[in-house]
Amino acid sequence: MSELTSRAEKLDAVDQLAAKRGEFVLDDVVYLDGNSLGALPAAVPGRVEDVVRRQWGELRIRSWDESGWWTAPERIGDRIAPLVGAAAGQIVVGDSTSVNVFKALVAAVRMAGEGRDEVLVDATTFPTDGYIAESAARLTGRTLRPVTPAEVPSALNDRTAAVLLNHVDYRTGRLHDLPALTSAIRGAGAVSVWDLCHSAGALPVGLDEHGVDLAVGCTYKYLNGGPGSPAYLYVRHGLQDRFDSPLPGWNSHAEPFGMRASYEPGSGALRGRVGTPDILSMLALEAALEVWDGVSVEAVRAKSLALTDFFLECVAEYVPEGRVESLTPLAHAERGSQIALRCDDAGDVMRRLIARGVVGDFRAPDVLRFGFTPLYVGFTDVERAARVLAEVLG
Ligand SMILES: *Cc1c(COP(=O)(O)O)cnc(C)c1O
Repeated sequence: MSELTSRAEKLDAVDQLAAKRGEFVLDDVVYLDGNSLGALPAAVPGRVEDVVRRQWGELRIRSWDESGWWTAPERIGDRIAPLVGAAAGQIVVGDSTSVNVFKALVAAVRMAGEGRDEVLVDATTFPTDGYIAESAARLTGRTLRPVTPAEVPSALNDRTAAVLLNHVDYRTGRLHDLPALTSAIRGAGAVSVWDLCHSAGALPVGLDEHGVDLAVGCTYKYLNGGPGSPAYLYVRHGLQDRFDSPLPGWNSHAEPFGMRASYEPGSGALRGRVGTPDILSMLALEAALEVWDGVSVEAVRAKSLALTDFFLECVAEYVPEGRVESLTPLAHAERGSQIALRCDDAGDVMRRLIARGVVGDFRAPDVLRFGFTPLYVGFTDVERAARVLAEVLG
């Protein structure tokens, strides 16, 4: 047994989150793709069965009230809130991240006011945010300017309406400085919009603490909500009265069952609602979130950094120097919960890794992406992944 194997076993033995693994449905594959689709929490199938058979099958229409369907978007938003450092009443669940980016960005531009005619967008963003930002800018008559997060402070001025940024870069795993950037955006009088897809459930976000204005995120990555599970929208308390949604559906009306001809927004986070929520996915997500009971995000972050450090150490030990190059920053303050390794034959390497039971993903043209989900990935998994990677690269 190598020194790294025995160290992995010792690390697993003292891991405070190790017991959480039993709350997931897993096999003997090393699953390092939870940053794309989180694993299935064991509580979900039974809950979905109950929602379908009893709540829908037997109670039918009564479930909107008796099974809490109508209030699910806010209730589940409040369950996500502590995971992203938000007090209750500021998050609503529903629609996809893409749709929420649209709502948030248009609302941000409207809040910023007429005089501000420029929108800044993360030039390295996950593509959907960039496409939607382009359309949102066009619809609101603003100019869109792509800049890297590092360029944001110098690009801000009194013409900036809103800034849309990714907290963690989906490709490289780089963590951006949310507190400093949010404060710079606020200082310039602009509205901040953060996309938390690759940070929520992996590291502390501190939305309230850092004064973030608006935020969105998906729930099927580190939050394990299931394929296509609904996303969420955060609107800071102080801005809720000014949140003017570009998609004012009847679900966000002050009196949804008044069936009135004219729109009047309700108050609070529910202003982010649009139409009838997708209850099946939403209640699967609610069951999935139970794995977070008793878990501190700080403990998750500590383990995540230990896992990624250990992975880099194993890769350095097993893989010949120069065969792969890490795109993920070494500094903890700049690292999310994934490691991205560059190599020319990445597509082929990932296919062979998956065939050997180590699942990560490939991002064209040359990136191997490995996501580390502290609730169900352990140190022996990490050692095995690096060892198999070295064999495949060999
Ligand atoms: C995964 C991801 C999305 C996904 O958007 P959907 O509308 O759920 O498809 C958006 N933004 C970022 C940064 C992501 O990582």
